[in-house]
Amino acid sequence: MLVGDNSDQRMNKIFNSVLLRVSVRNFVLIESFLTSLIPKADHKINFAKILIVQQPDFNNTEIAFRYKTTPELKRAHFLFSVFKYNWLVKWVPAIMTTALKSGLPVKGIIKQFGFRHFCGGETMDECDTTAKKLHDFGIGSILDYAAEGKGNAAELEFNKNQILKTIDKTAGNQTYPFAVFKPTGILSFEIMEKADAGIPLTNDDLNVFYEGKARVEAICLKAAQKRVRLFVDAEDSWIQKTVDDLAEEMMEKHNRSEVIVYNTLQMYRHDRLKFLELQIIKAREKGYKLGFKLVRGAYMEKERERAEKMGYPSPIHKDKAATDADYDAALGLCVENADIVSICCGSHNEDSSALLVKLMHEKGFANDDKRFWFAQLFGMSDHISFNLSQAGYNVAKYLPFGPIKTVLPYLSRRAQENTSVAGQASRELILIKRELKRRKVPQ
Ligand SMILES: Cc1cc2nc3c(=O)[nH]c(=O)nc-3n(C[C@H](O)[C@H](O)[C@H](O)COP(=O)(O)OP(=O)(O)OC[C@H]3O[C@@H](n4cnc5c(N)ncnc54)[C@H](O)[C@@H]3O)c2cc1C
Repeated sequence: MLVGDNSDQRMNKIFNSVLLRVSVRNFVLIESFLTSLIPKADHKINFAKILIVQQPDFNNTEIAFRYKTTPELKRAHFLFSVFKYNWLVKWVPAIMTTALKSGLPVKGIIKQFGFRHFCGGETMDECDTTAKKLHDFGIGSILDYAAEGKGNAAELEFNKNQILKTIDKTAGNQTYPFAVFKPTGILSFEIMEKADAGIPLTNDDLNVFYEGKARVEAICLKAAQKRVRLFVDAEDSWIQKTVDDLAEEMMEKHNRSEVIVYNTLQMYRHDRLKFLELQIIKAREKGYKLGFKLVRGAYMEKERERAEKMGYPSPIHKDKAATDADYDAALGLCVENADIVSICCGSHNEDSSALLVKLMHEKGFANDDKRFWFAQLFGMSDHISFNLSQAGYNVAKYLPFGPIKTVLPYLSRRAQENTSVAGQASRELILIKRELKRRKVPQ
C-alpha cells in the first residue's frame, strides 16, 4: 500500500499502477517528474516509502529474456519442447553417458543443446563470457564445480583444488558474489554415512574423516581470508548431520564480524524449522553470525524411498503445502533475526521470492541490503532473476561448469525437472513461447 502524508485516493491509484513497473534505476527520474506535477502543499508524498513498496513483476518476459538473442531463445524453445517427451528424458542421459564412455562423438550434440543452456563452460574461465553477460544485467554468477559424490581420495583432493580456484576467482570480483561447494565432492560419503548413523569409526575411518574435514577447513579459511561468501550445499539427510556440524563449526570460527559461511537448509525436511531456531539461539549465546541458503530440497523421492525401504519415518513433509509453509516460516524467522542472520532465497518459486520482498519491505530493509540474496540456477527462472535484479534486489545464478561427462548427471536432473506433467508444457516453455510471441517470432 502506498503511503503519503496527505495523498488522496486518485494519486495513490496512479502511483500504484506506475510503481509496479518501476525499476530502482528509473526511480530517481520518476521521483523528480512526479514531484514537479504535485502541488507540494496538497500531496506530501513520502517517496522513500514509495520506493519500498515496489514489487517485481514476474510476468515481464521482455526483461526476463532480454539477455537472450532470438536465435538463443529459439534454441531454448527447442530444448524445452524436447523435454516434453518423458521417455526421451528418461533414456537420453543414459545413452549419452554410454556413448561418451565408448568414445562416440556425442560431445558436440550435448554441448549444443543442454550443456550450453544450463552450464557456463567446461572450465572455470569459459564461464567468464556468460558471467559477464549476466553481470551486465546486475546478476551475479556462482561458479559451481559440478562434481557429484563418492569419489576416491585423489578425486576429492582434485575437487577441493577446483573449489579453491573458484574462491581465488571470486575474491574481489563483483561478477561472482559467492563461492560454493558440495560436501560429497570433498568428503567421503561412506564415512559421513557411518558417522551419521552412529556407527563407531575405525582408526582408518577417522583418518579419512579428518582428511575430509581438513579440506573443508582449508576451503573455509581461504574464503574467510579473501572475504568470499561461501555456500555449503545440502545433500542426503543421512549424511547431513555431519555436514551441519562442520558448517556450524566453520560459522562459529569465521562468521564473527561478517557472514562468510552459509549452510543450506532443505525445508522439505520437517525438522529444519526447529533446527533453524536452535541455530539462532546457539549463535546468539556464542556471539557469531549465521548464513543460510534456504531451499526446499532436491532429493524428495530418494529420501522417501530409502525411509520406506529401511523402515524409518520419512524425514520429508507429508505434502507440498507443508514444505511451502515451513519455507515461508523460515524466511520470516531469518528476516526477524536479520541482526545476526543473512540469507539466500534459493528458489524458483515466485511466491517465496515475492514473500521475501514483502518481508524485507515490512522491516524497512533496502532492496539491495547485502544480508538478502535471491538465487536461481542458470538456464531456469530468468523471469524471477531478471525482474528481481531490475527492481534492485541482490540476485545470483548458480553457473555449473566441468567436463561434459562430469556435468551429465546435473543436466539429466534439469531435464527431469522440466518434463511435462500430465501433458502440460513446463513453466519455462510457456514463458519462452510468450516471449517469442512478443517478439513476433513464428513458432
Ligand atoms: C540457487 C539454488 C541452490 C540450490 N541448492 C540446493 C542444495 O544445496 N540442496 C538441495 O537439496 N537443493 C538445492 N536446490 C534445489 C532446491 O532444493 C529445489 O529442488 C528446487 O529449487 C525446487 O524448489 P523451489 O523452491 O524452486 O520451488 P517449487 O517448484 O515450488 O517446489 C518444488 C519442491 O517442493 C518440494 N515438494 C514438492 N512436492 C512435495 C511433496 N509432495 N511433499 C513435500 N515436499 C514437496 C520439493 O522439495 C520440490 O523440489 C537449489 C536450488 C537453487 C535455485
